[in-house]
Amino acid sequence: MSSNSKIFFNNKKREKYSNIAIGLNTLIFMKKHNFFAGPAVLPEIVKTKASQAALDYNNTGLSIMEISHRSNEFVAVLDNTEKYIRTILNLDDNYSVLLLTGGASTQFFMTAMNLANKNDSIGYVDTGAWSSKAIKEAKILSNVEILASSKDKNYNYIPYDYNIPESCAYVHLTSNNTIFGTQTKKWPDTDKFLVCDMSSDIFSRQIPLEKFGLIYAGAQKNAGPSGVTIVIVRKNILGKIERTLPTILKYQTHIDKKSSFNTPPVFPIYVSMLTMEWILEKGGIDEIAERNAIKAKTLYDEIDSNPLFVGTANKDDRSTMNVTFLINDPNLEQLFLDNCTKAGIVGIAGHRSVGGFRASIYNALEQESVDTLVGVMKEMAVKVG
Ligand code: PMP
Repeated sequence: MSSNSKIFFNNKKREKYSNIAIGLNTLIFMKKHNFFAGPAVLPEIVKTKASQAALDYNNTGLSIMEISHRSNEFVAVLDNTEKYIRTILNLDDNYSVLLLTGGASTQFFMTAMNLANKNDSIGYVDTGAWSSKAIKEAKILSNVEILASSKDKNYNYIPYDYNIPESCAYVHLTSNNTIFGTQTKKWPDTDKFLVCDMSSDIFSRQIPLEKFGLIYAGAQKNAGPSGVTIVIVRKNILGKIERTLPTILKYQTHIDKKSSFNTPPVFPIYVSMLTMEWILEKGGIDEIAERNAIKAKTLYDEIDSNPLFVGTANKDDRSTMNVTFLINDPNLEQLFLDNCTKAGIVGIAGHRSVGGFRASIYNALEQESVDTLVGVMKEMAVKVG
């Protein structure tokens, strides 16, 4: 091979490989529409600020992950996170805000441990897989009374017609059922306090705060990354039980130690702080709720009008966070998934226990992403229908 033909060959090769690389880059770097159920989409600005802080936090020359949790810098992060949560939810001093570890799953038993005696009974409304898990844990510690369940219809609705016996210490609800796509819209009329798993819809809409004794949520949907769990507890419901608890499992410990009894998850808390800041910058819950309602309506309207698709949740109980639906012809499932992938849509497959599709449209998901999904659904109906 002459030196000229070698250059020619190398140029050809370079061109070929660079075309492949451009193709790959387009796939990898094309805008992704993230419909995962959790961990889930985060606001762009949060990711940008978090990446800067991962390298150099506020010009300290240290990563946020390298500073002491007792340092002034991190104490300020903790204080701000609490302050922002208080502002977003309009919390007064009767409530404590805790930033814990162990996920919402730890709260399944920590709530019962701290709020009910062994012989007390706790009322549970069973609205799905996560409620069932909460019930299972509570049964280890106290008596459980199932007030109502939607298991008879594979959890496709929220039961509202139930009585709360006087004997119940409190009532536990799951506000939004991430897997089944249903959401509680009416809160029980009771003088018992509510304990609520709000993992998948916290900060997404206004709630009647006075009804809640305790709210918990894993952060990884609407409140940041996984690794931190938010607990909001009304102080006057604590200190009433007879059990002796390990120190770290007492809410009072974390109240007294300002969420730093042991080393808190500094990076997840920092990213949650940024997420709270973003919610406030967007205009707070009212604005966020309005955006959420428009996104949900866009998608449900398409599901209801497109002959290829059908929603799985009872219409009145549909979640504004997790939209569950099926394609009428199962043979088209793969084609739909492929079309989604081509459009940059990720995380649309339904939970493994239910199948079909689930679009999680949390606070940080942009309308543009919902519009892209609806576009793919419309195009499929034209081509296939
Ligand atoms: N409750 C609900 C409603 C959830 O969606 C989840 C997680 N998807 C959990 C509890 C469990 O949360 P964690 O993984 O933080 O324990």
